[in-house]
Amino acid sequence: MRISEYIYTIKNSIDTQAALERYGISFNNRGFSKCPFHADKTASFKVKGTTCHCFGCGWTGDIVDFLCKRDGITAAEAASKVNYDFGVGLEPIYGLDSYAPSTAQNKAISQAYRDHLAAAERERIKTEAYNSLTGEWIQLDMDERKYAPKSIEDPIDDRFCKAIVRKPIVEYLLMTLV
Ligand SMILES: [Zn+2]
Repeated sequence: MRISEYIYTIKNSIDTQAALERYGISFNNRGFSKCPFHADKTASFKVKGTTCHCFGCGWTGDIVDFLCKRDGITAAEAASKVNYDFGVGLEPIYGLDSYAPSTAQNKAISQAYRDHLAAAERERIKTEAYNSLTGEWIQLDMDERKYAPKSIEDPIDDRFCKAIVRKPIVEYLLMTLV
């Protein structure tokens, strides 16, 4: 594997922002952090996909470039470090030894990273459920009004029945999600 392919694989196997957070960069809730490479008064540093960009000084790079610049190490060393720290599972390339954390450190970092991914996944599932339930509620609410019997002699429409039975359940489920 060429170094460029190695780096490509590494950076696409991890969540760049989460990795930067593990390396001490903290992001605000808008996803910006203070730039590590210039005296940044406002938070000008942002991650998009695998690319980091500073709107202040213009620095652009990926997680490997970040470690190279911050720690003064080579791309091979930086890529190997990320491979190690986040348990990507590739064979290390040269220059690794001085950056190999202890097994305990390595375990702790991998666990923290897995926790982060698990939390993100839970959040994603929650959002999906919320959106789908909201859609269902809107439909049921429409059906309830549209198919309501106009008088006591009218036959009861199935869609009206379903709406009045199902709506409170959906409302309850939505409540458990917020
Ligand atoms: Zn900057």
